[in-house]
Order: sequence, then C-alpha cells, then structure tokens
Amino acid sequence: MSLVNNVGRFNLSNKTVLFPEMNRMGCHLLAATFRGFDINALVMETHKGIDLGLEYSSGKECYPCQVTLGDILYFLKKEKEKMGNAFNPDDYIYFMPEADGPCRFGMYNKYQRIVLDSFPQLDSLKISSLSTDDGYSLHGIIAEDAAGDLRRVAYFSVVVADILDRMLWRIRPYERQRGMADEFIEKAMRNMEDAFETLGPEKDFKGILKRLEETIEEGKMIIDPRIPPKPLIGVVGEIYLRSHVHSNQDLIKTLERYGAEVVNASIAEWVNYITYNKLKEAKSRLRLNIKQFRPENMMRYLKDIARFQSELFYQEWRQKQVYRFARALIKLPEDHKVAHLEEILREDDIYSFDIGTEACLSISGILQYVREGYNGVVNVYPFTCMPSTVTSAVIGPVMNGLGVPYLDTPYDSSIQPYREAAIRTFMYQAHQHMEHNGRKQYS
Ligand code: SF4
Repeated sequence: MSLVNNVGRFNLSNKTVLFPEMNRMGCHLLAATFRGFDINALVMETHKGIDLGLEYSSGKECYPCQVTLGDILYFLKKEKEKMGNAFNPDDYIYFMPEADGPCRFGMYNKYQRIVLDSFPQLDSLKISSLSTDDGYSLHGIIAEDAAGDLRRVAYFSVVVADILDRMLWRIRPYERQRGMADEFIEKAMRNMEDAFETLGPEKDFKGILKRLEETIEEGKMIIDPRIPPKPLIGVVGEIYLRSHVHSNQDLIKTLERYGAEVVNASIAEWVNYITYNKLKEAKSRLRLNIKQFRPENMMRYLKDIARFQSELFYQEWRQKQVYRFARALIKLPEDHKVAHLEEILREDDIYSFDIGTEACLSISGILQYVREGYNGVVNVYPFTCMPSTVTSAVIGPVMNGLGVPYLDTPYDSSIQPYREAAIRTFMYQAHQHMEHNGRKQYS
C-alpha cells in the first residue's frame, strides 16, 4: 500500500523538499530555482551516509541507489538529532525521479520506500517522483499556473550548470595556482544560486546571463596562458556516476593529475534525450494507430507529438542560446544534438536508439568525440550497470580499430588498487595520440 500511497506526485508547497546531490552545480542551481518558486528545496549532504546505504541494501542494487539511500538516511538521522521531539517526517518530501525502460532506475524509489517503511517514524515521509514516462513533467507538484514557468527556468538552470561545469574542466588544468579553480567554482555556484532564486521567478533570463557573464569573465583570468594545451579526454557513461565526484572517486581530477583536459557528457543532453525519445515513441504509436484505424488514440498521440515537439524545440533553442553566449566569452566545447547522435549510430550501424537506455548516448557520444579529434575516451559507470556494460561490449572493438585510447572505469564503494595504474597508462597513450594526431581546438 505504501508503494502506492507514499511514492508518486505530491504537492510540494509547505514541505521541505530534499534533493540528493548528483552533479553538485546542477543540483544546487535546481534547488535554488525551486526556492525561487516558493518551494523550500535543499540539497542534502552527500556520501557521508554511505555506510548506512550499504547497511540497508543487499549489495545487488545499483551503486547510485545505495549512495542516495545513504544520503536520505543520514540526513534524516541528523535532522532528528538536531530537532529532537519537533522532528516530523511529514514536513519533508524526498525527491527521487525515476525512469521507465529496461534498467533498474525505476526501482530505486520503490526499494528506498521499503527501507524507509522499516523505520517506524519514517513510513509517513513521502517520496516525490518525476518520471521519464511523461518527460519529467512538473504537473501536480506545484500550482498548475506555475508548472510551465518552473519547468522552463529549471531547464535553464540545468544548461547554465553544464556551462559552469565545462568552465571548471576548461580552466582547472591550466590554473595559475593549484586550488584556484575549485575555490572559484564554489563561489560561482553560490552567486548563480542567488541569481536563480531571485531572477528565476520573473523569468529574467537576461539578468541570469548577465551574472553568468561576470562569472565567466572572473573565471577565465585563472587560466595561465603559458601552459601548453593538454590531451583532450571525453567522458561518457551512466549519468549519476559520471556526475557524482564521490562515487567516481574524483575521476576527472585523477585524469587531470596525469595531464588531461576533460570534457564530461552534459546533463542537458540526458534531458533532451528523454524529450526526443518521448517524441519518437509518440510518432511510432501514432503510425501504429493509423494502421489499425483507431481514431480516438490517433488524437491522443497527435497531441503528444505537438507537446514533445515544442518542448524539444524550446530546450534545444535555449541550450544553443546559452552556449552561444558563453562561447563568445571563453572557448568551450559545444554540446551534442540528440538527433545528430542518432544519425551517427545509423551511419555506423552498431547500435540503435530503438533499444533505448543511456547506451544510445554513450556509444554515439564516444564516436562523436573520435570524429572531433579527442585524444581518448573514458566510459564511467556503476559496477554491473547494464547499459554501460553494453556500451563497453559494443564500443571496445570499434575503438581498437580506430586507434583511439579508450578506458572502462566501473565503480562501487571499494577502492580498486589497479585503477590509478590503468588511468596512468591510458593517459600515456592519450599523450602519444596527441603527439601523433594533434588535438581538437575549440572554435
Ligand atoms: S543505468 Fe545502470 S546504474 Fe542506472 S539504474 Fe540502470 S543499471 Fe542501474
């Protein structure tokens, strides 16, 4: 019963909404956006509760499920200690999205529900879940008239966070003094949180871009122009692991330590992929219903097509606008367009978007990095992750043939002794690759 009553879409007003941290920048800007729309959202401290996550799982779950479970249990434990008798689980809503499709992400919130229910006081804490099934629609969680605006500003925050992440990876390998870039990005995050909280509700996108401009101008001064270009490494993989630095044991920094400049796949790419896929699905259902002549369903899918088409158009337009703006200030890599990634898979005929999952984005993303002249690619994922294991199986032989260094880096909570040696060897190959082939220059 609890799985039905306590997991789903709940109105967030008058509650404290708890976001687990995935990519630090993105989650904090998103929470700030929600706060701007009068939703008391906060990002929970992350990875401090990993022991709890491991204690209340069997070891068969995906690693992100264990990490996020630890985050919520740790937060509630600390909150209870702090508030004593005033602690009331009904005051909170835990925000855990889900996905349809063949892998286990759709089960995280159900599993975590079962664990929360095993604590007498926590069975009334609700889990609010957005689903890829309707393209992460926000309807039902805030007032209807604000849902559209919140979705647009939230998407904007995702793109701005991607830009700031790219900025960090662009400047940190060339920083004048060690630690400057990390210090800068933390300050930038607070500044942009304030921008989204105060300007977001007015949909003052220009005002937010102005704050972004000041941030970029300050950040680019950290680059020491005397440091020569370094091998460019592309990262793909499972979205949580590639974004959550504690879970991937700070992979990007480790690569940087061995001389890399890194570009990680973006979060907006995933959001666009969800909308793109919903559009594709609606089109194929419409075709089927035309064949079977079912007029009532035809109307429904026509409406879905119009909705997802306009959402995708808006997202891609907005993303392009922000990238154009930022790239006029500092040289940053552009993001991939999902239709182009599908085209790559069609041309190379090694996988299909019809199979779905993140493997579509990872396999095509790797091939795109190769086409653009990257000096190596890393695939990062939770140990036993199904789509990433597929990616690894499909792309490994292809990368051997292309002669571009490639590394699989599966992670769980253990420290693997050979990992650093593998990264060091990979980076040696990437340096060799750059010596023989040069590297991509941002236009
Ligand atoms: S993508 Fe991988 S880690 Fe994520 S739910 Fe699916 S199998 Fe688990």
